[in-house]
Amino acid sequence: MSIQAHIAELQEIIPTGVTMVAVSKFHPSSMIQEAYDCGQRVFGESRVQELLVKQQELPNDIQWHFIGTLQRNKVKQIAPFISLIHSLDSERLMLEIEKQGAACSRVIPCLLQLHVAQEETKSGFTPDECRAFLENGRWRECNHIQFSGIMGMATYTNDDAQIRKEFQHLKSLFEEFKAKYFADIAAFKEISMGMSGDFSLAIEEGSTMIRLGTVIFGER
Ligand SMILES: *Cc1c(COP(=O)(O)O)cnc(C)c1O
Repeated sequence: MSIQAHIAELQEIIPTGVTMVAVSKFHPSSMIQEAYDCGQRVFGESRVQELLVKQQELPNDIQWHFIGTLQRNKVKQIAPFISLIHSLDSERLMLEIEKQGAACSRVIPCLLQLHVAQEETKSGFTPDECRAFLENGRWRECNHIQFSGIMGMATYTNDDAQIRKEFQHLKSLFEEFKAKYFADIAAFKEISMGMSGDFSLAIEEGSTMIRLGTVIFGER
């Protein structure tokens, strides 16, 4: 099946109000262009160098999302154009995004990445780390960051009950943070959860943003 057919099929099943991020990492610009020609405008990349090359080559109305581990020394290169960073997971990274946002006079939308899965390798704040981060309040001084919600991943498993439980956990953390810190901040509204293998469960559990690679572009 073509990229076009995959996108058409996904558009049928994804509810309005849920944003589909087409995760194009490791795939060539020609495949991104194909998706673009079907109307897709939101693309996710996880490596800065690769993103910079593609951003140069492709139409400038693409909204690029950064979804991978972000090294502080690379923030400067994406700050001028990035639409959303899904992976803010430390105070040091926050301070660098703030600095680079200020340097290019932008307010950069970011999600707090949370770690709730069982794998140890995945990045993100633990729930308690994130609570401490929000409580210390330094984020309030970051006028060049728009705190827009949370991002998380479920454990890579066939156990749907486990995945569902983790998505429920992410949703409850979103509700907790929203009530306690962001009740007056309308932009804090996104729950980025769900990938190719688990996006239907994620939508059922309240996702507002799903990140799909394999089901659109095939295996990497
Ligand atoms: C690669 C990646 C995805 C997409 O994964 P698929 O299983 O191919 O849909 C989503 N989110 C993050 C953070 C990724 O690194």
